Amino acid sequence: MTAPLRHQATQFFLYFLHAARLRCPLCGISRIFIPLLKTRCLRDWFTPLDGCPRCGYPYEREPGYFLMSIWAINYGLGSLLGIIIYLILESLYEIPIWYLITFVVVPIIFFNFFFARHAKAFFLALDLFCDPHIKEEGENDRDDHTPGKPEPIHPHGTGNPNPLPYTDKKKESLKKPSHSFVQTS
Ligand SMILES: [Zn+2]
Repeated sequence: MTAPLRHQATQFFLYFLHAARLRCPLCGISRIFIPLLKTRCLRDWFTPLDGCPRCGYPYEREPGYFLMSIWAINYGLGSLLGIIIYLILESLYEIPIWYLITFVVVPIIFFNFFFARHAKAFFLALDLFCDPHIKEEGENDRDDHTPGKPEPIHPHGTGNPNPLPYTDKKKESLKKPSHSFVQTS
């Protein structure tokens, strides 16, 4: 294996290792979701934070960004699980159809619920590996996704596609009675 290929393989493995721990795919330290003990509702469970406060990597780049992770990864693997369970039960036992459906559908529902966070984390890792979004020359600061610029984290993940850099001016705007991050300049 050549050196660049080995480097890419190592990066790929690292990103997915971070995702498996539900940590920022880039730095592997900050969480992608609200900690389990602070999760109060389904929205907390399913919605990623806006970005990593340590390296500034944005978790949701645009509206609908995680649709692919839900449909392809979560539902896809859930369906695969259902097919495997069905084939095993069908080949080993003779059970009534309604029992068969129950034994297939119930595990899929549980799997989709508990794997939803990992599906999004793995999608983030895959996207980072395939499309790292390194800042081009002359790009607006708002689109700066390179490491080193901390960005805000909203506790409920507002879905803001471009989390703004956390500046003093920003703090001023947060004192106003607005509940969302709004750029005032
Ligand atoms: Zn990070």
